[in-house]
Amino acid sequence: MPLTQEAQAEIDAARASARPTLRAVSEGMEAQLYTAHPVLDHGFVRVIDYMGDDSAIVQAARVSYGAGTKHVSNDEGLIRYLMRHWHSTPFEMCEVKFHVKLPVFVARQWIRHRTANVNEYSARYSILDREFYIPEPGQLAAQSTVNNQGRGAVLEGAEAARVLEMLKGDAMRAYDHYEAMLSQDGQQGLARELARMNLPANVYTQWYWKTDLHNLFHFLRLRADAHAQYEIRVYAELMCKLVADWVPLAYAAFADYRMGGVSVSAKGVEVIRRRLAGEAVTQETSGMSKGEWREFVEVFG
Ligand SMILES: Cc1cc2nc3c(=O)[nH]c(=O)nc-3n(C[C@H](O)[C@H](O)[C@H](O)COP(=O)(O)OP(=O)(O)OC[C@H]3O[C@@H](n4cnc5c(N)ncnc54)[C@H](O)[C@@H]3O)c2cc1C
Repeated sequence: MPLTQEAQAEIDAARASARPTLRAVSEGMEAQLYTAHPVLDHGFVRVIDYMGDDSAIVQAARVSYGAGTKHVSNDEGLIRYLMRHWHSTPFEMCEVKFHVKLPVFVARQWIRHRTANVNEYSARYSILDREFYIPEPGQLAAQSTVNNQGRGAVLEGAEAARVLEMLKGDAMRAYDHYEAMLSQDGQQGLARELARMNLPANVYTQWYWKTDLHNLFHFLRLRADAHAQYEIRVYAELMCKLVADWVPLAYAAFADYRMGGVSVSAKGVEVIRRRLAGEAVTQETSGMSKGEWREFVEVFG
């Protein structure tokens, strides 16, 4: 279960007691506050707090560029300009704090993003729940033959059943041993900080994760991308929807320039120019490596 009844009751109570404020408010984010959105089999993402909205980005940019921004006719145009020209600090004026429940192996990828503030559930202090990520059958795939960091065809039949059985069996056995080591029934009981070490990487953890919009966009660009592992990507995709509700203008610019856009090398620009002039350019005459050419052709044909 992503949420206990107790936790859900706390969320309902928090959402039921609105307070007036003079702060900038994003209506889209107010509608999302505290709500836990399920991810994977036991995980969730919920917004705990946020600061700023689209207008905070514009306001900050106008402070730094003053009259220079007046020629940009509206907020949307200015935000798109800032995104297009890689300005970062105006987007850093917005902050967001998430509560995330996620498998430990996903947390290991996530924590590599250093530009955030994190507080994790302490398995030294508390006992972890018997909750393990077990992939849905459609996600149980073979090693990809073309991508060392990826999946290929979905496992089927007896092999899929055997893998699922091993994953579930190992998790339950490890948790049984965890409980047996912790138990103070007729024994001293091993310290929680030690007993946890036999738990597999698919056990769930939780953390508060706070970051600013610029660094969040960087995280989403990498983790909502098709190259990211499915299990972290589903969190990032959900967060993209929350951010779109929070700062719709900034998110639209991000989706256009970063998620949907591509960066082209100087050699790539030259090839495009030559093609537009009618020249048939090949990898050999492009000056690009085979890998660069393959990626270029994937985008531009
Ligand atoms: C598809 C994918 C595959 C990956 N595979 C691997 C892998 O096989 N092995 C592996 O180890 N990692 C892997 N990673 C992790 C990756 O290398 C990065 O560590 C991770 O994406 C965090 O990126 P970041 O450092 O840009 O982000 P953040 O830590 O959020 O930093 C954001 C930006 O801040 C700046 N910054 C932050 N800290 C510093 C600093 N100390 N010094 C200078 N600049 C800083 C940088 O400009 C950085 O881009 C993978 C990531 C992805 C998305």
